[in-house]
Amino acid sequence: MIRREDILRIMDAVRIEDVVGEFLQLKKRGSNLIGLCPFHNEKTPSFNVSPSLGIYKCFGCGKAGNSVNFLMEYEHYTYPEALRKLAKQFGVDIVEDEPDADYLEKKSEEEQSYFVHEFAGKWFTNQLWESKEGMSVGLSYFRERGLSDSIVKKFGLGYSPQQYDAFAKFAKSEGFDQDVLAKNGLINIESGNDRFRDRIIFPIFSTGGRIIAFAGRTLRSDAKIAKYVNSPETAIYHKSNILYGLHLAKNAIISNDECYLVEGYMDVIAMVQAGINNVVASSGTSLTAEQIRLIRRYSAKVCILYDGDVAGIKASFRAIDMLLAEGLTVRVVLFPDGDDPDSYARKHSAKALQNFLDENKKTFVIFKAGILFAEAGDDPLRRAEAMKDIVHSIAEIPDGIVRSLLVTDCSRLFQLEEKVLMTEMNKMLRSKVKKQLRPDEHHIIDDYAEETQKPEQENLSLSDRVEEAERNILRMLLQFGNKLIKFSRTDELGMEIITESRVSDYIFDELKADKLELSNSQYAAIFDVCQNQVKTDGQTNVNRILNMLEPGLSNVAASIMNADHALSPNWDKHGIYIMHTDNSMPILIQEMESAVLEYKHLVIVRRMDDIMLQMKDEPNADNQMVLLNEYQVLKIIDVEIEKRLRQRVINK
Ligand SMILES: [Zn+2]
Repeated sequence: MIRREDILRIMDAVRIEDVVGEFLQLKKRGSNLIGLCPFHNEKTPSFNVSPSLGIYKCFGCGKAGNSVNFLMEYEHYTYPEALRKLAKQFGVDIVEDEPDADYLEKKSEEEQSYFVHEFAGKWFTNQLWESKEGMSVGLSYFRERGLSDSIVKKFGLGYSPQQYDAFAKFAKSEGFDQDVLAKNGLINIESGNDRFRDRIIFPIFSTGGRIIAFAGRTLRSDAKIAKYVNSPETAIYHKSNILYGLHLAKNAIISNDECYLVEGYMDVIAMVQAGINNVVASSGTSLTAEQIRLIRRYSAKVCILYDGDVAGIKASFRAIDMLLAEGLTVRVVLFPDGDDPDSYARKHSAKALQNFLDENKKTFVIFKAGILFAEAGDDPLRRAEAMKDIVHSIAEIPDGIVRSLLVTDCSRLFQLEEKVLMTEMNKMLRSKVKKQLRPDEHHIIDDYAEETQKPEQENLSLSDRVEEAERNILRMLLQFGNKLIKFSRTDELGMEIITESRVSDYIFDELKADKLELSNSQYAAIFDVCQNQVKTDGQTNVNRILNMLEPGLSNVAASIMNADHALSPNWDKHGIYIMHTDNSMPILIQEMESAVLEYKHLVIVRRMDDIMLQMKDEPNADNQMVLLNEYQVLKIIDVEIEKRLRQRVINK
């Protein structure tokens, strides 16, 4: 039992950002921190942590609570376990009146699994460090492999003796049920013998550092004996969403903003011994989508370390396309002469390993191209296939700027015509997006041609971006307000319906529908004048608008129109654009729609930020709920808008 006053002292000492920050990368946003939610799958962060309130709240899935809730929810701690863990983490000494009795009986299946794994883990390490057999076989093996005693301890490595039922006997004498032991894969169901007997033991930890499974490796060279024996899937162990070593690597991955991905347990351990802590292994399975999302929570940069086995490397290409599709930056290091990270680390100093990694990182796509083109040689058919394959990988990358840089690199390095690559990629992108759209939206895609990119606007502050978006709307209005646009849609009966609208009316209607007013007062004034002028004259007349504006404002209006990014020079051949026949038309529509969407998106983001601030200062729970509701509604709208914006970016 933990005393009440101790609970209060613990909760006083706890910093939620440290508790949650151990499990995901948090970035500052206003007075809060924000990250990718660990409870549901998302690509844009909606998981908020408020240090001042000591709580977390996900606006995607609704999960919320304090530090204790987080540990219970995410790591399946019981209430007292969560408190003990927090007390330890924040250096609060607690006195417990009596140990929690009847542990085994009280526990749920999950809790029982954690408990029996912890128990077994201790037993395996005791065997390694204290039994004669463990020391002479297990420990001496680790030492031969060059592992220091402290690293063996750090990873909780252990030993399971030759005797058929050494563990089973001991566990039963300590009160564990045969059933529980079998269900957790520690003994074989039929024979009742130890599953891991005669092996060195690698415990597998949850992200929070609790033992959830074991891998046992035989030291015998007998081909009939499986090299590894692993725990089965249990209530607490799902191997597809575990990365070996992550419990130790988390902080290093965040601080280095990069995650090394290796193949085996020994590779992870050897790297850590060499001082490289941001390393994990997918341990025996090929990389899964869950594992990728796990990495993404800590960093969007992955570096994969390969031994020289080409067949193995090629087999991993598909998994890496998945990494690319999830928006991760992937680099690759190939070890020479059949070395793997473990063997390389044994032959060289820690410093040499560090340097080797720093000097040999290659962008994955370039690496892949190198391998495929080397194989293809001069054979034109195989070269064409290789090119398609590489372009396919590039097309997986969500960021258009990265895509076009890679295309340029590839064309330079492998003497391919950039235009050919670009065309091929756009073809793939279009068919990819088409798959995500309803059939009646397909025309959106067919009309967009070349891939061009706007400069990144990430670094501008929100108010700067809103201002930019407002300028953009005015620019569309002033420069292209008169242009007639035809929209083609297909109705329920499959009939094509064509509607016409001037750019100016489109913009007026869109903003009016959402009751939006430009926030910059000068822009708002110009906007009003435009609207009045169109109302009286029936169309936009830029000269008249400029004359109607007071000098300060006409200056502003003119500067907006002279902005750099004008449309293509052929835009004004006919005055009226007709879809499908005039190439510049779709670009105009796209520019117009993007301008409006981007503006709406920013207005919503600004309002959501305001709500977050208001919520912090709002003492009344009901009012908080009202704000929360509004926030959630905005979030849903914004996701929709962003989806539409993204479709536009992909096709630019
Ligand atoms: Zn969530």
